[in-house]
Amino acid sequence: MEKKEFQAESKQLLDLMINSIYTHKEIFLRELISNASDAIDKIYYKAITDKSISFNKDDYYIQISFDKENRTLSVKDTGIGMTKEELENNLGVIARSGSLQFKKENEIKDGYDIIGQFGVGFYSSFMVADKVTVITRPFGSDKAWEWESEGIEGYTIEETTKDEYGTEVILKIKENTEDENYDDYLDEYNLMNLVKKYSDFIRYPIKMEVSEY
Ligand code: ADP
Ligand code: MG
Repeated sequence: MEKKEFQAESKQLLDLMINSIYTHKEIFLRELISNASDAIDKIYYKAITDKSISFNKDDYYIQISFDKENRTLSVKDTGIGMTKEELENNLGVIARSGSLQFKKENEIKDGYDIIGQFGVGFYSSFMVADKVTVITRPFGSDKAWEWESEGIEGYTIEETTKDEYGTEVILKIKENTEDENYDDYLDEYNLMNLVKKYSDFIRYPIKMEVSEY
């Protein structure tokens, strides 16, 4: 396992992100879903420019799941995934956007919907989570990687296995405090409302198993 520190500037920015930029902590879900959508868009984009890649719409979706007992919330996509280098560049350096780079490299102008550009949204996860784990396998590779961080101090990366390419982000949701009811992020009804409120425009299906609707 490799242990790495965030750069000094990244630490300051992360502190700002977690503690003051956003008024509503709940927007972390919008950020994770938009990243998942971007990751699928990248495969879609590859497929339309490279005939050897097929894009079957049914294979591409975003899955939200949660576990109240273990206090975990997960956002999984079947998108392009990340190599180890991409993990280090995009999640190890705050304010670096792999998505913006992708748009530049592929000269993507209007018509494509890749949302990311500032390279900060992901870190909003730390507003609601004590620990964030990212398990990812890049498209076209058998290798998978696990990135994990408890915030400001840094992160670890180690090799792991994953059946399909794509990315899963798992948040260990904080315990409730006097000011904030973090249990809301483990509540199916609230999660459904947040998805409707913030992610209605996402072009790929967002799936969540629900009990009684
Ligand atoms: P932005 O979306 O504005 O680029 P983020 O902080 O949300 O910034 O994400 C940083 C980068 O991490 C993205 O640009 C992308 O390269 C990478 N990334 C984040 N989430 C995913 C994901 N689910 N799949 C693939 N890459 C991702
Ligand atoms: Mg983003």
